[in-house]
Amino acid sequence: MPLDSTHSLNISQSHGGAWQAEILKRETTNRWITYSGTIRDNLFLDASRAGLDNHVTMNLVNIFAWDIDFARNLRQGDRFSVLLNELFDHQGKRIGSTILAAEFVNQGKRYRAIRFTDPKGDSAYFSPDGKSLRKNYLKAPVKFTRISSRFSLARMHPILGYTRAHRGVDYAAPTGTPIHAIGAGRITFRGWRHGYGNFIIIRHRNRHNSTAYGHMSRFAKGQHKGSWVKQGQVIGFVGMTGLATGPHLHFEFRIDGRAINPLLIKRIPARPIPKKLWASFQRQSRPRLLAIEQSRQHREVAWQ
Ligand SMILES: [Zn+2]
Repeated sequence: MPLDSTHSLNISQSHGGAWQAEILKRETTNRWITYSGTIRDNLFLDASRAGLDNHVTMNLVNIFAWDIDFARNLRQGDRFSVLLNELFDHQGKRIGSTILAAEFVNQGKRYRAIRFTDPKGDSAYFSPDGKSLRKNYLKAPVKFTRISSRFSLARMHPILGYTRAHRGVDYAAPTGTPIHAIGAGRITFRGWRHGYGNFIIIRHRNRHNSTAYGHMSRFAKGQHKGSWVKQGQVIGFVGMTGLATGPHLHFEFRIDGRAINPLLIKRIPARPIPKKLWASFQRQSRPRLLAIEQSRQHREVAWQ
């Protein structure tokens, strides 16, 4: 009896009449396969023509999200190659895939990413010289329609009617739009705060930086004060609680408690490959980069 794609349950009766059950791991095979394509119409269409499903394409977008603006800067003639580790069950059905390496040539500039799994089993993507492709902070906490108010030390408050500092940025977005933590950290405040409505403060890993998110319609389930959140994790949803004339996210970035203009934060790269893991990184990255190189000649490589 199959349990999932890689395990089955086997129940049998021995000669003595006793029943026994065992879980068998069924055979799976994996193969490295590269896919290459050129942008002619749009990324998802051209990626699917090259043989990639939308899920893989979405992962590809996420891997290069800090370097390439896929919404605005993609051009006809941009090229991509993706090396996948594909997992098949005993019947030859594909049951999973992971991007091991990828290359994207955007407007003539080449970007490369290699997946590295550290001894603890955590995986992330790096450039061939070991720099992390992630940044410590996301560019913005919401997919916004426009910035409705900028950081200013003196602006006319739309509801209060007098001039006061606006210590953050307002991102206009429809009610219910997910709000993402821009960096990993711990929730140090989650509740109602006058003016801000439903409000969250996150203290980030270096302990000096914190971010604040206001006017939420509601908070994400399963989190509370003291919870750890990952970068990009949804913490709540856009609304207009507190003093707000329309649905938007009021967002602040604070260093040692002092608000600075969030639009001026330099997006700091996450940690590179540490020296002691360099040899291990080389061992993982070399064959993967080679496979990507070979795919340029539109050859398929299939290794065990
Ligand atoms: Zn605001």
